[in-house]
Amino acid sequence: MGEFDVIKRFFLRPERQLARADCVALGIGDDCALVQARPGTQIAISSDMLVEGHHFFASVDPRALGHKALAVNLSDLAACGAKPLAFTLALALPKIDAAWLDKFSSGLFALSDQQGCELVGGDTTQGPLNICITVLGEIPLEKGQSQALLRSGAKPGDDLYVSGNLGDARLALEVMRGNLQLEDAQFQLARERLERPTPRIELGLALRGIANAAIDVSDGLLGDLRHVLKASGVGATIRTDQAQAMLAAQSALRAALAKPSGPTDTQLTERLWLGYVLAGGDDYELAFTAPKASRNAVAAAAARARTPVSVVGQIDTELGLRLVNAQGSAVENHFAAFDHFA
Ligand code: ADP
Ligand code: MG
Repeated sequence: MGEFDVIKRFFLRPERQLARADCVALGIGDDCALVQARPGTQIAISSDMLVEGHHFFASVDPRALGHKALAVNLSDLAACGAKPLAFTLALALPKIDAAWLDKFSSGLFALSDQQGCELVGGDTTQGPLNICITVLGEIPLEKGQSQALLRSGAKPGDDLYVSGNLGDARLALEVMRGNLQLEDAQFQLARERLERPTPRIELGLALRGIANAAIDVSDGLLGDLRHVLKASGVGATIRTDQAQAMLAAQSALRAALAKPSGPTDTQLTERLWLGYVLAGGDDYELAFTAPKASRNAVAAAAARARTPVSVVGQIDTELGLRLVNAQGSAVENHFAAFDHFA
């Protein structure tokens, strides 16, 4: 099997399975794909690359990898409030493994079909396993103004929200690295969050016109929040007790804290679990800010998107990022965000 057979067999789909006849004028097969922007809209574009050994283990289920490669890209569209339209896939493969490609593409297309996001092109080459996806999304203009959610719009006095819960992906990673043990049920739950993150597309769409600023949490809340603070010229205070309260009932981290399974769980000290929540990485939740007066609107948007959201702090005029406990006393910030070059 050669390059073109791979494209034809695993990535070119019959016409009835194409998701976006409304805007994809030309898909896979020519030198370029043609995507039609609808009048009164902008096209949002984002790329994310996954490299074996850095972003995933060689042993990962290829179906989960197909899901995650697209999910991390859709998460960027979600953070901008963009509706997914189409994507390209640049793939370096060490060898042509039909069974692997079959599973990879089925995981990829399960998510792309669910989100109505069509594969319109890409590149296929031989090399160390590397997956680079570029997504295109649609953002409406209103009176010529972009409705995109940006990092730069946070205002002093805004509530700081996070969707879902944080920390499970890091919990799974530490178990896989052999640094921690968990009961199997807890580990499976955590691993699902690491390997099959849910891009918060519906929430991003519902927050348009309500949130002042948004970002997706991929490198840990503290690190990603700093990007928002810098872009907006503001500071923030995070309430560590509210960050803890955010751990939903179905969170593996919460289960592990509530029901230690052995002596190794004593490793899950307060400092450790708080570190997973605030700086764990790979969460793909949305962090966003909105005026206090918009609390009802945020709650309604979250309900429409069927996505839980929690207030974990607030935006301040004073620059910098502060952590405080329920009593308002400072909590030392010794949590470093994930940095690929650190
Ligand atoms: P070119 O030589 O012009 O770069 P290719 O021969 O690499 O084009 O690719 C042929 C067609 O297949 C193009 O339309 C390209 O976008 C598409 N394609 C290549 N690899 C992939 C892939 N992994 N997934 C989807 N489409 C692909
Ligand atoms: Mg090419």
